[in-house]
This record gives sequence, C-alpha cells and structure tokens, in this order.
Amino acid sequence: MEKESRVLPLIPLRGITIFPHMVLHFDVGREKSLLAVEEAMLNGQEIFLASQKEAKIEEPKEDEIFNIGTICNIKQILKLPGDTVRVLVEGESRAKLVSYVQKEPFLKTEVEILQDEKCEDKGKCEALIRTVKKEFEEYARLSNSVSAEALINLDDLEESGRFADIISSYLTLKEDKKQELLEAYDVYERLEKLLLIIKNEVEILKIEKKIGLKVKSKIDKSQKEYFLREQMRAIQEELGEDDESKKEIEEYSKKIKKAKLPKVAKEKALYELTRLKNTGSYSAEGGVIRTYLDCLLDIPWNKKTKDNLDIKRAREILEDEHYGLEDVKDRIIEYLAVKSMSKSLKGPILCLVGPPGVGKTSIARSIANALNRNFVRMSLGGVRDEAEIRGHRRTYVGAIPGRIVNGMRKAQSKNPLFLLDEIDKLSGDFRGDPASALLEVLDSEQNNTFRDHYLELDLNLSEVMFITTANTLDTIPRPLLDRMEVIEVSGYTYEEKFHIAKKYLIPKQFKEHNLEEGKITFSDSSIYSVIEHYTRESGVRSLERKVASVIRKAIADMLERDKNKISITVNHVKKYLGPEIYTYDKADKIDKIGVVMGMAWTGYGGDTLPVEVSVMSGKGKLQLTGQLGDVMKESAEAGYSYIRSNAEKYGINPDFYKEKDIHIHAPEGAVPKDGPSAGVTMITAMVSALGNKKVKHNLAMTGEITLTGIVLPIGGLKEKTLAAFRAGIDTIIIPKANEKDLRKIPKSVLSKMKVIIAEKIEDVLENAFVEEKSNDN
Ligand code: ADP
Repeated sequence: MEKESRVLPLIPLRGITIFPHMVLHFDVGREKSLLAVEEAMLNGQEIFLASQKEAKIEEPKEDEIFNIGTICNIKQILKLPGDTVRVLVEGESRAKLVSYVQKEPFLKTEVEILQDEKCEDKGKCEALIRTVKKEFEEYARLSNSVSAEALINLDDLEESGRFADIISSYLTLKEDKKQELLEAYDVYERLEKLLLIIKNEVEILKIEKKIGLKVKSKIDKSQKEYFLREQMRAIQEELGEDDESKKEIEEYSKKIKKAKLPKVAKEKALYELTRLKNTGSYSAEGGVIRTYLDCLLDIPWNKKTKDNLDIKRAREILEDEHYGLEDVKDRIIEYLAVKSMSKSLKGPILCLVGPPGVGKTSIARSIANALNRNFVRMSLGGVRDEAEIRGHRRTYVGAIPGRIVNGMRKAQSKNPLFLLDEIDKLSGDFRGDPASALLEVLDSEQNNTFRDHYLELDLNLSEVMFITTANTLDTIPRPLLDRMEVIEVSGYTYEEKFHIAKKYLIPKQFKEHNLEEGKITFSDSSIYSVIEHYTRESGVRSLERKVASVIRKAIADMLERDKNKISITVNHVKKYLGPEIYTYDKADKIDKIGVVMGMAWTGYGGDTLPVEVSVMSGKGKLQLTGQLGDVMKESAEAGYSYIRSNAEKYGINPDFYKEKDIHIHAPEGAVPKDGPSAGVTMITAMVSALGNKKVKHNLAMTGEITLTGIVLPIGGLKEKTLAAFRAGIDTIIIPKANEKDLRKIPKSVLSKMKVIIAEKIEDVLENAFVEEKSNDN
C-alpha cells in the first residue's frame, strides 16, 4: 500500500492526546503555536497535533515530542482575552512524523498517514470488541463519567478501529497510556491494549468505591442527622414555629420552678427539659418528652389538704349521707377515732366487703368528705397486668404511667382518700402479678418510695389513705387480705331499701333532673312496689335506676298532659315500668319429691338455689350437672356416703348404691355458686328422692355436713335469709353455730320467719318432709 504523506504545521500538545474522530477544544497561547494555527487556517485548516513527552516544557525540542500524532481539522477558532485562542478540532487520522520541515517561526513537519491495519481474524476481533464493550459499560457504570448517549452510540459503530478510538477518547487515563493506544495502529493490538487498560481501570474504580463507601457511610450518618436537624430548624423558623417552641420551653421551665419539686424530681425535670430543647419539640421524641414532663408536673409532690379529724362532724356526715349501715358507720368512726388520737392515718387498710350497690363506694366518698380529703377511685376489675399498676417503661412505644400515678395526678393532693374498687377482681397472668405491685402500694413500710416504671422517680404514698372494696373475700390474694381490716356491708331489707329510696335516692334524682320539690311525689306503696316487683338485688343500684326511669317518664307525662304536679301511685309505676318482673313469692306452692330449696351466697349477694335429685335404676352412678362448683360436688359425694351408711334409718334400701343411679342438678342462676353450704340441701334432696318423701315447699336450708352428719356453720347468713325472704319462704333451717348471727338480721324480717336450728343432719331431715304419710309406700 502506498503511503500518503503531507506537510503540515505542528502544535505540540501539553497534557492531552487526540484520537482520530475525537472532537476537542484546547487553548493555544504560545507564540509558535499561534503562528502554526494561522498557517493551518490559510492552508486547508489541517494541522498535525502530537503530544509533548513532558507537559511542563515551554519549548520542546524534536526528541521531546512524540512521533505519532493525529492530523486534525480545525473547526472553529475563538479569540479569548489576551493573546490566547481557543481552537476546536476534530481528529482525522493517525500520522507519523517523518521529518521537521521548519522550526521557525513555527514548527512544520512532514507526516505520513497511518492507515489502520484491519483484523485478519474477523471472529476473534468481534469477540474482543464485545468483551471491550462489556468492560467499558462496567467502567461507565462505576466512573459515572460517560453519558448514556455515548454508550448507545457505540452500538452503531461498524468499524473496529474507530470503535477503539472512540472508546479511548472517553477514558480518563494518564498520558502515556493514551499515547500507547494512539501508537497501536494494528487494530487487534489496539483492542487488546484497550481491554487491558479498561480492566485495570475497572478494578481501581471498584476499590475506590469500596473505600469511598466505608468512609462515606461513617460520615453520612452523623452528617445526615445534622443536616436533617438543620433543615427542620430552618423549616420551623420559616413557619414561625421556632418561637413557639422557645415559648413552650420557657413555660416548662417556669412551671418547674414554681412546682416546688423534690430535689430528685427537679433534676429529672430539668434533664428532660434540656433533652426537649435539643430534640426540638416538633419531633416525635419531643412529644414523648412533653407527655412525660406534663405527667411529672401534674403530680402533687407537695400539695396537701388539711385533715379534719373532728369525730362528731364525721359522724354527722356519715349519718347525713347514708341510711342505716349502723355497724359500718360505728366501725368507721372507731377507726377514725384511733387515727385521730395517733394523729396519723397509717395502719391497716379498710376493706369494705359486700354485694354491689350497697353503698361501699359512696360511703368511702363520705369518709373523704368527713376527713376533708380529696377523693379518687380506681377500679381494679380485670386488671391482670402489673404494668397497669406500675406503668410501662419509657422505652416502650406509647408507654404510659400506671394507674396509681394517674390516680395521684387526678387527686391533686398528696394525701387523698384513694379508693381501690373491686380488689377481689384482680387477676394475674404471664404479664406479671398486679397483686404484688399492689402489695407494695398498700404496705406502709414500703409505699413511701413507690416506683412507677414510667415516672422513674420515687413517689411517696405514705400519706394516702387507701380504702378497698370487694364483693367477696374468697378471691382476694391472701397477702393483700392480711393487710386489710374487713368491714362487711351486707344487703338491705325491703324496709331499709324503702327508707333509702325515700330519703336519698328519690331526692337525689329530683336534683339531677332539676325538679322543684313537690312537683313529683311518691306514695309509699309505689316505692314498695318498685322494690318488690321490679328489682331483686341486695343493694339499691337497680332500684336507683328504676326510680330514675319512673321520674323521667313522669316528667314526660306531665309535659304532655300540661300538668304541673304528679303524685306517683302503684298504677303509675305499672304504667311506666311495664308488667311486674318479679312476683312476691317465687317459691313453689306445691310440695315436691326430690326438690329442695337451698340458700346460696355469692359475690352478688344472697340467692335461693333449688337442688333437684332424680333416681333411676342403674349401677350406682352419681351424676352432677348444672351450676355446681367443685366444692359443691365434693359436698354431694360426702352426702352420698352419709346416706349409704345411714340408709336404713331413713327407710331407704341399703343396696340403693348398687341398683340406682342418682342425678343431682342445680338448675338456676347464671352465676356459678361455689361454697360448701349446700351439703344439707343435697342430702335432703337425695333422701327425698330415694325414700319418696315430699319436701315442704315453703322451706329453705343451708349448712355443710361432715361424713358423720354434723351440720357445720356457713357464711353470709344475713344475705341468705334476706334472699329467702324475698323469695317468699317462711321457714329456714340453719346450722347451730350460726345462731349467733341471727341478731344481725333485721327484726322486720325475722319476725315473719320460722328459724329451725340444726346441729346434726337428723335435725334437718326431721323438719324437712311433709308430715302426712307419703302416698304409695
Ligand atoms: P357499691 O360501691 O357498693 O357497689 P355504690 O356506692 O355505688 O355501691 O352505691 C350505689 C348507689 O346507692 C349510690 O348512689 C349510693 O349513694 C346509694 N346507696 C347505697 N347505700 C346507701 C345508703 N345506705 N344510704 C343512702 N344511699 C345509699
């Protein structure tokens, strides 16, 4: 192939290399170079550009300029301030410097164009191109210095030499590497070199990135937070909120100063305030801190009410606000008297036990009134998590203080009367035992440093007067019960309910409905009618509701009929409350075999409980169904054994246990009745069924038995008797040991009932059956 040569002006390049097909601009300032450009412009705009070996040299000699360079076409010239010219060129072809034609006033050379030496093995070349392309893409991805457009354009390149040159022009390489690529006019060799260089570059970039990432992530974290915070501050400032948070912080700091906190609490409050300042009050954390500060400042650390220990006044208040309950009032007055003597209210905690609606809560409120203490009430019903008493640690999301701390916040004094309602309804599970937390609250030795998990500060509860209430003592955890002085508040008789309604409940409802006195009046018989036919309870809660309902309906009636007075009679009650719900005597009028009325006592007061027994042929199985607790089942078995050993005495076939199955059933009552007091009832029912004896219909009984037939005492005699009376029963059989409790039963009830005292089961059975000869056998 014939070699083509040209004579062209030369500019030695400093720090750059130009490849064919590459478009580039550079500034020319050297005198010689400027003249060379001028010459080129006059002669076809072609110029030979070759790199200097050392960029620093101002006037390079022949051997300081590389031999291989690029013939370029000058596209544009731009005069810059001073004597500098910006030249835009496009590379045309590789060329080799053959000789210097002139050196002054500018360099002029004879150059020989170097044609690319094409690949012989097309396949090999193609494979190489592909690899180069792949590596280059990786390079582009890592270096971020190649545009996506450039990558797409590569796909269009047919010619491998040009492909290599264009890629070379995109790489950021050292001069000598570029020169190396420029000098490779064998295309295959050029591609190989290129691949090697790119691979090397990619490796370096990867390492760079790894180092960069590590350093960056370290710097990033702290910078990011700083950045975001600054941004937030700027936004807040922009919105004018920053002023508000400043104001808020000032307010808190004033409050803290004013609150007269104990030293530790004050330190804690100030610490939290500093945190609030730093986090900014608009962050989520800020909200949490604010809630905490509010809680801390709400607690009455030093506020106190002055006790009034005037016993006479206390008695007056109790009398004034509650009817009856003489025993209870006496006990309370005694308790207060002792306290007033010792000038401290430490000591056992009062526990008021009784059925619902008998005034436990309201009497506790009266005690608070009498003592001039603030009153707070907290129900423990269903509390099963220790955290409910003691709070959640603040590390939990949505943590809140426990109920004691919340109660104290409500109380607004550090010596309130704190009522813990329904202490018998506490239950523990895997979340911890609330009873033990409560123990700490109630223990006067420990409760001056009660610690709530949320508050994280000791709270002094030693000046709080705690009173608890419960429906039954059975389910109160023993250690708690030991710390309490139990006062029983039992159910009311009809008369008592009547007086309570007349003197307290009705006037209270008038007040609540804003009624002037005299507008509505109740006749005595109408009150009795509500009590007897519309309620059946030990307390007066549902009576209060019914009375309120009558009053509401009466007001509506008055307004509709344009009257301004109404006097409620039995008929009005029927009209307003509908048909009677309970009839006076619930007891059966017929004497039956195998059915005996027992008397039960539950947390809800007394009740009557029929026990049914049926006997059938079988193999001596004893079956129990209905609302029978475990203890009652044991009672049934004890009774069964007693009958087996005494069968003949009662005219029962001694082999009954081989031939008969006995089924005992307690049909009534949704509330499971536990307790051993149904022993006598079950024996009587079994004897009746086995011996075919009719049981008196107007009789109810209670008592536990031993295997030898001794009748043992039971609890809640008053409640049971009142319940039997309500149910229309007129004879009751009770254990001898309970005879002393009869004095607690109101005379009005006792005078209308026959009470049979039983020492042994024989005493019960002698009195239980109808005298007349029982029919068939
Ligand atoms: P408990 O706490 O025992 O369930 P409450 O204290 O809630 O009962 O009493 C229910 C309602 O009955 C209250 O309005 C209360 O004032 C009233 N009450 C109960 N007993 C009496 C009483 N002996 N004298 C006056 N009101 C009473």
